[in-house]
Amino acid sequence: MEVSQELLLPLPKTDLHCHLDGSLRIETMLELAEEQKVNLPANDPDSLRALVVKNQDNCKSLEEYLKAFEITLMLLQTREALTRVAYELLEDCAKENVWYIEVRFSPILHTKKGLKLIHIMDAVIEGLARGEKDFGVKWGIIISGIREISPDISVRLAELCVAYKNRGVVGFDLAGSEEAHPAKEHLKAFYTIINNNINCTVHAGESFGPESIHQALHYLRTHRLGHAVRLKENGDLLNYVNDHRIPLEICLSSNVHTHAVPDYEHHPLRFYYDYGLRVTINTDNRLVSDTTVTKELYLASKHLNFTLDEIKNLLIFGFKSTFLPYHHKVKMLNAALKKMAEISETKTEDRL
Ligand SMILES: [Zn+2]
Repeated sequence: MEVSQELLLPLPKTDLHCHLDGSLRIETMLELAEEQKVNLPANDPDSLRALVVKNQDNCKSLEEYLKAFEITLMLLQTREALTRVAYELLEDCAKENVWYIEVRFSPILHTKKGLKLIHIMDAVIEGLARGEKDFGVKWGIIISGIREISPDISVRLAELCVAYKNRGVVGFDLAGSEEAHPAKEHLKAFYTIINNNINCTVHAGESFGPESIHQALHYLRTHRLGHAVRLKENGDLLNYVNDHRIPLEICLSSNVHTHAVPDYEHHPLRFYYDYGLRVTINTDNRLVSDTTVTKELYLASKHLNFTLDEIKNLLIFGFKSTFLPYHHKVKMLNAALKKMAEISETKTEDRL
């Protein structure tokens, strides 16, 4: 029996894979367009939604899915806009009891109107810090390098990551087209990251096979894997990931929308969980995939038969897999376990 969204809503959650430029509100986009005098390809909520919200039918590939970002990025070229969307993202998290979010973005994509990388970082940090103060949601930033831009830009972004370590940034990521741009091209950037004792994650095994995951693990020495839906194709690598407790950042809706999997029922999440892998549930893009962590958990229950107890385990995996320092992580995990126990007790009392 599926677990209702109502039951899932109060549970404490994390969102470890969430792109800032894929997680704006439609209303905010329209207001920003008016303020900035930007001509969007649509000017009312429904038509704009039809262009930027992707689903299995209106989107046939990752490349098509990424088209939505060309529109959102038109609006994210000012400090004010970056601060606002970062702030609103934390408000959206608070509404569904996401206690901790790792927000990722690639500062280089926000330089089209002349903003400097440090101004972009400071604007996002300001929005997140204000959001934490007002809504109580904790956060960390992951800076993304982009495979198809250039390895030199990735090195610059890695250096930015080093400069902002302990100032809001908790990790580095590599996103973009896997097949044409192998991870090992970005080795130098990841060397800078690892050499400075910074966490990293890599989008791998989403649109390309296990060899991409192999490179992420053994060349870039990633600490987590984004998506990894194709990890199941290589049992040896799967066992390595399992034995080393390398967390997978699973984003069900996004994987269906980009056709990384044919449908929810065929997503490997159920197999990974049963096999023992450390799987976490995340949104990827709250706007583009029209989702929340609560909705993703509900879909896991509906299509892959996750029980409430299993969902709680997924949430615990999330708290265990954050890029927070160990002592902060343990504190937050214990608070989450306590909250989950309280919620269960309430339910038992209700039944009595
Ligand atoms: Zn992603």
